[in-house]
Amino acid sequence: MKQLLLLGGGHAHVFVMRAFGKLALRDTRVTVLSRSRFTPYSGMLPGLLAGLHTLEESHIDLAWLAGATGCEFIAAEATRIRPEARRVECADGRAFSYDLISVDTGSTPAVDQVPGAREHTLPVKPIDRFFAGWRGIETRVAAGERLRIAVVGGGAGGVELLL
Ligand SMILES: Cc1cc2nc3c(=O)[nH]c(=O)nc-3n(C[C@H](O)[C@H](O)[C@H](O)COP(=O)(O)OP(=O)(O)OC[C@H]3O[C@@H](n4cnc5c(N)ncnc54)[C@H](O)[C@@H]3O)c2cc1C
Repeated sequence: MKQLLLLGGGHAHVFVMRAFGKLALRDTRVTVLSRSRFTPYSGMLPGLLAGLHTLEESHIDLAWLAGATGCEFIAAEATRIRPEARRVECADGRAFSYDLISVDTGSTPAVDQVPGAREHTLPVKPIDRFFAGWRGIETRVAAGERLRIAVVGGGAGGVELLL
């Protein structure tokens, strides 16, 4: 039995899980290791902020998807990959073996390359952390604080968030 480890349960690996589910391979076990069980679907993030969708509607339950596609799901944060031992070490002290690993932990903005960005901005990626920060902004506005919000980055995602 070969062990395929998918590191990161975002958009890309969600698709891979579905594809493996359809293949139903007998000689390969697919394990998905991701930071949290619920992974945000970014296309619905602007609608989530606008109050059009709930948190549950705009997140994919990786544990459920794993069950439906014959994969195994592990909620953990990887901190180190040891290729020589074919092992991934996690923040909680656990370690997992693999024969083949696919790493797709998403993108994060390089906030340290822009002075002040780390202290004064709320990066949209990773989305799970963004949403917690957004909740904080909502609480301040609900308490009567008036805020001027600037969006840095005018690509499709930035424009959707503004709308
Ligand atoms: C507002 C907005 C709207 C968007 N709308 C669209 C759209 O409509 N259509 C579209 O195609 N794209 C859209 N995108 C882009 C899309 O979000 C990305 O292209 C996509 O998420 C990339 O997928 P990924 O699997 O590479 O990474 P991600 O989806 O970012 O997933 C990475 C995963 O890895 C996990 N992870 C990270 N580090 C670790 C670690 N150390 N250990 C374990 N797990 C870890 C994270 O928790 C996460 O689950 C949008 C983006 C934004 C910001």
